[in-house]
Amino acid sequence: MTENIGLVWLKDDFRLKKNLALIEATKENNKVVVFFLLKKKKFDEQEAQKWWVRESLQVFRKQLINYNINLEIVLTDTYKSFFEKLFTKKNFSIYWNRTYEPDYLKFDEFLSKNFKENQIKCSIFKGNILNEFHEVKKNDGTPFKVFTPFWKNAERFYLDKIPKREKKISKCSKKVSFFKKTISEKEIYPKEKWFKKFEKCWSPSEENALKELKIFISNRVKNYSDLRNFPNLLGTSKLSPFIKHGQIHVETIWEECNKIKHLGVNKFLAEIGWREFNHSLINYFPHMLKGNYSKKFDKFPWEKNSKLLTAWKKGLTGYPIVDAGMRELYSIGWMHNRVRMIVGSFLVKHLLIHWIEGEKHFRKCLLDFNQANNISGWQWVAGCGADAAPYFRIFNPILQGEKFDKDGDYVKKWVPELRKVPKKFIHKPWELNDQSILKLDSDYPSPVVIHEEARARALKAFKTI
Ligand SMILES: Cc1cc2nc3c(=O)[nH]c(=O)nc-3n(C[C@H](O)[C@H](O)[C@H](O)COP(=O)(O)OP(=O)(O)OC[C@H]3O[C@@H](n4cnc5c(N)ncnc54)[C@H](O)[C@@H]3O)c2cc1C
Repeated sequence: MTENIGLVWLKDDFRLKKNLALIEATKENNKVVVFFLLKKKKFDEQEAQKWWVRESLQVFRKQLINYNINLEIVLTDTYKSFFEKLFTKKNFSIYWNRTYEPDYLKFDEFLSKNFKENQIKCSIFKGNILNEFHEVKKNDGTPFKVFTPFWKNAERFYLDKIPKREKKISKCSKKVSFFKKTISEKEIYPKEKWFKKFEKCWSPSEENALKELKIFISNRVKNYSDLRNFPNLLGTSKLSPFIKHGQIHVETIWEECNKIKHLGVNKFLAEIGWREFNHSLINYFPHMLKGNYSKKFDKFPWEKNSKLLTAWKKGLTGYPIVDAGMRELYSIGWMHNRVRMIVGSFLVKHLLIHWIEGEKHFRKCLLDFNQANNISGWQWVAGCGADAAPYFRIFNPILQGEKFDKDGDYVKKWVPELRKVPKKFIHKPWELNDQSILKLDSDYPSPVVIHEEARARALKAFKTI
């Protein structure tokens, strides 16, 4: 009799710790194969992430070998066409962790129904989240639309059910293969030559995620509340790409943080809470994945202006803090949260360009891109999301720069042509009238819009809805 193989569908779960699907598969089967589906189209929209995924596959493959488990990468046009072929195969059981996006959760239902009909054992587990999105609800059974009460309830709910003992992956008897046609991770290359710079800043692995968390907790979390808004200081954890790709489970973050008692920990965990909230929002209100959460914004008079959009993407708006952020994003596939808010606000309010354009650009460039946080982040900035910043609160990019990058260190790091500009003018270089230091329009652009005029225009546009 042919022995059953445990197949584990690997999505954003590049870890051994708290990888429930993998742990259960190795408990129930002597032979296990982990497979990663490379869906071409999905990756074309998320260029930067190709690099992270390729590196992660390479490292994870090595981790799995220690447990006699093969990692196989299969190229497919669609998930559906791949699984339809799999339904016809025999002698395997299949396991995976949930991905909290409406399309994935709907697809889970389709898969479990079909595997069941074909008498194939299929087990789906909790993914990288503290609470399943539907577990946290108001007393009347409706979803929370405001963060603070959501998080109060979510924390309490999670505390009540923390697992007592952690399960561990078991070693398999023998390394086996399952799929006939596989590809190597080396075939996953971003079109743009981004990865050279990424390689200097990031090292995607479970080991490094755990190491970064420990360093953050030992050295930085106590000052998190005070320093998290200053982009030139290493005030935040920079764990987001590791969380996105599942190199670390948010439960591990929770547990490690709760080993120390400090107010900074609460503030930090509340940010993990925003991630939970955003996942809940997109699943309860999936219309926000395609447009505004708040329908009244459907009539907002957005403007199309490809010249301004390109200037924004390239970090050539003439507003140093905005340009620094956009160049940081393009260089290292990450941008500080405060600056994400500033550049986002600038696009939707100063330039009146639809937030969808910003969302798309972030999706392409961010190593930590995830649907829930990116869509909700953009709608928060634009004012059309749940519990969002009101549209009429318009960030002044000069004052934001002066407040959060007082000495201009962040700007000078990412916009080297401004390195000689004195502190007084670093966030408004057009006021410096000294050609020997900066030739405006040749060294660095004049502002693409005048702040006061843009602000008035944005408020006028807002009044129309
Ligand atoms: C327009 C816009 C787009 C964004 N797009 C994304 C995205 O695609 N992916 C993404 O992970 N985050 C996104 N964010 C949220 C936030 O900017 C990043 O999570 C954060 O900057 C990551 O850096 P960090 O790991 O050092 O964060 P820390 O401050 O150390 O926070 C720890 C973790 O909490 C979560 N977190 C922190 N801030 C937020 C927040 N405001 N909303 C939701 N979760 C948060 C992240 O998982 C983060 O890694 C976006 C924010 C804005 C304003």
